[in-house]
Amino acid sequence: MKNPLVVNALELLRRPGSLKDVACEVEPEVVELHDERLVPASTVDVDLVCSSLSTGIVIEGAISARFHGECRRCLAPVTGQIDTPVRELYQETVTDPDAFPIENDQIDLRPLVREAVLLELPDAPLCSAECRGLCPVCGVDRNVTACSCSTEARDPRWSALDALREQLPE
Ligand SMILES: [Zn+2]
Ligand SMILES: [Zn+2]
Repeated sequence: MKNPLVVNALELLRRPGSLKDVACEVEPEVVELHDERLVPASTVDVDLVCSSLSTGIVIEGAISARFHGECRRCLAPVTGQIDTPVRELYQETVTDPDAFPIENDQIDLRPLVREAVLLELPDAPLCSAECRGLCPVCGVDRNVTACSCSTEARDPRWSALDALREQLPE
């Protein structure tokens, strides 16, 4: 079966100025993504245009995918979408230090898609930028309930003083 993420470069190089759309939804396994941050059974959406230029083939567009996880502050479930722009140059003879080689007259976009997703997937997502998190003292979700705990960080020198004070007679 022909993989939509493997582009025939020869066809494009023969006709400078030509374009080819690569728009598809692929299973994460197709690009060897086995990441638990991806929403199960969701696809990676690829929306790219290949342009044949005199310098090579430029691949430009965006990759998106759905992720899920736990808010790093309040532990609530979080889902979201990454949408990452990509732009890469592929050359038969690599002269540009940032270009990738065209091998066997083909451009394999799978590593590009895989890397784009891995770079964007958040390690520690937030349910919202304003999330107030859990109270470190009593554990309530401060987005839901206000508590009266004092959560100011104490200077460690004070705890040394406290320890001394406890040893003193009343
Ligand atoms: Zn949160
Ligand atoms: Zn509290």
